[in-house]
Amino acid sequence: TAAQTPSALRSTCPYCGVGCGVIAEPDGDGGVSLRGDPDHPANKGRLCSKGSALAETTGLGARLLAPQMEGAETSWDTALDRVADTFRDTIAEHGPDSVAFYVSGQLLTEDYYVANKLIKGFMGTANIDTNSRLCMASTVAGHKRAFGTDTVPGSYEDIEEADLVVLVGSNLAWCHPVLYQRLAAAKAERPNLKVVTIDPRRTATSGLADLHLGLTPGSDVALFNGLLEEVISRGALDAEFIGQHVSGFHETREAVSTTDLSATGLSGEDLRAFFNLWIGTEKVVTIFSQGVNQSSSGTDKVNAILNCHLATGRIGKPGMGPFSVTGQPNAMGGREVGGLANMLACHLDIENAEHRAAVRGFWDSPAVPETAGLKAVDMFDAVEDGRIKALWVMCSNPAVSMPDADRVRDAIAACPFVVVSDITAETDTARLADVLLPATGWGEKDGTVTNSDRTISRQRKFLPAPGWARPDWQIISDVAARLGWGAQFDYRAPVDIFREYAALSGIAARLGRDFDISGLADLSDTAYRDLAPTRWPVSAARTGGRFFADGQFFTPDRKARMLPLHPRGPGTELSEDYPFRLNTGRVRDHWHTMTRTALSPRLSRHMAEPYLEVHPEDADRLGLQPAGLAQVDSPSGSALLRVLISDRIGKGQVFAPMHWSDETAARARIDALVAPVVDPVSGQPESKASPVRVTPF
Ligand code: SF4
Repeated sequence: TAAQTPSALRSTCPYCGVGCGVIAEPDGDGGVSLRGDPDHPANKGRLCSKGSALAETTGLGARLLAPQMEGAETSWDTALDRVADTFRDTIAEHGPDSVAFYVSGQLLTEDYYVANKLIKGFMGTANIDTNSRLCMASTVAGHKRAFGTDTVPGSYEDIEEADLVVLVGSNLAWCHPVLYQRLAAAKAERPNLKVVTIDPRRTATSGLADLHLGLTPGSDVALFNGLLEEVISRGALDAEFIGQHVSGFHETREAVSTTDLSATGLSGEDLRAFFNLWIGTEKVVTIFSQGVNQSSSGTDKVNAILNCHLATGRIGKPGMGPFSVTGQPNAMGGREVGGLANMLACHLDIENAEHRAAVRGFWDSPAVPETAGLKAVDMFDAVEDGRIKALWVMCSNPAVSMPDADRVRDAIAACPFVVVSDITAETDTARLADVLLPATGWGEKDGTVTNSDRTISRQRKFLPAPGWARPDWQIISDVAARLGWGAQFDYRAPVDIFREYAALSGIAARLGRDFDISGLADLSDTAYRDLAPTRWPVSAARTGGRFFADGQFFTPDRKARMLPLHPRGPGTELSEDYPFRLNTGRVRDHWHTMTRTALSPRLSRHMAEPYLEVHPEDADRLGLQPAGLAQVDSPSGSALLRVLISDRIGKGQVFAPMHWSDETAARARIDALVAPVVDPVSGQPESKASPVRVTPF
């Protein structure tokens, strides 16, 4: 039974932010069979198609097995010397801000922590950013503005306890499938649980909805401002909660009084139905994801949602609250270790002198930069214009996944020194590296990840490291030692890093931060090995639970902040040349740039090739044939895609998945078409509203 399964065989799925537990059974011959872990609180035994196919993706066919320099195999010592020497020389000649790390929400927490420590504490620059910038940076910024820190208040159980679940910009059925299964099961058990989907596109998730609002792209702030105005006009505020625990209400009330709901494109009937449901239901959970985050007004969208929950006191209580679901397995862990250019570890702030001093003292480091580093889009601009001269990409494929991806690819190609540490050499980015470092992959390394509801789970090693591959934390520490900081990076194993990180969180908690796992700072090696999924905080004072139940937030006056927000549309204009809005996103059975999921033929059967979803009237007008080919052009790139005619997409909009690359299809790198327009607060790119032209091919 599961209860008898040794902890060594329990791990966590490496894909989405649901963070499902798996039980692995190696066959002793390099293969493995997998099933859902019935004891893991995230999935209780369930797995989705991607998780179920994990065993098909652990083969070594495409693996990078030895370090390479300029395409030739070399020894670890030679490769690491070259990395350390080049970073040292570049910093000496051009200053610390001439180097950068681009990392990933798929790194384990321990890897992420060490990378962040090396560059921010020792190399003297905050130029580290992560592909999480493309995923949920707007949520981080929105949480910080409202709560004073980046806190996800609730848990997955809240979704099941709610009487109304509103999904905004979230195709949960495809992107967080096990969470969707939990929601669907709860609704089947309690048909009174209502579901509303808010998305310009009808998706697989909309099939579960009692009401679908196909709003105009980018109009979420107008919709939630309108909801708040309606809350106010119907007297549905929680005046006591606002009075005791919220600031900014009066300015916000003034801002929403001028809301023009026509911007949403929704009918009066749909708006009334939504407002009636939301206002008439006490237990509301509002789930939001990339449709909210990946926008030039993403942070405002987040705060518009938070405003509604704060105004009604629907936060910090069972079955209610705003709920951000993160894309990647360790996007939350990355936020917690400070993997973003504008954060320090343990939710400490880089702009705060007291926080910097605490981190510097704890790390025994020469300095911690006083200002934020370059966020992802700015970082690759700096690579392009030559300010960044040495770049280390870990566990990510920005030549495919960044907006304006052709330009990013060319910038990386022209960068004087590029290191890529990854499990494969077969990515568009790895091909551009001067030095390639083989990293261990899922199942071959140990560490932790944090899922969307703050549950820390262990990823465990159950397969041998192939070839000369090493864990990322070890590679980074080996470079740190060569740069003269061996004492501060003297880790034997991930547990040493975890204990250090947990101890730092105790200092952060004393400085008023929410992130506190100090209760795990003295874990023995055995206790770390056997660590069961644990929701933070974990301290002497408390373990797990729900944040804000006491109405206390992490701002100086302990009050949450409502913000006056003024709706604005996408950051780019349509034109005669580029008259369509391109929405990008995931398909059910592929993950990121497919470096793992493409290894499973079963997963490729669901959507066998890249496609363009087009409304029937647009298809007619353009002369597009079902299953024909369409050329899609934007000012920055072009793609050739199979036509999928569907009224799920609105007129004037098209949708294309973001997974395919030069490695997996000809001319289908969809992010090459995405305009590098970002949210001014979070720096997150607007990946869902780029102007494009569509023509039959
Ligand atoms: Fe993995 Fe996410 Fe599927 Fe769970 S829902 S099995 S974490 S991809």
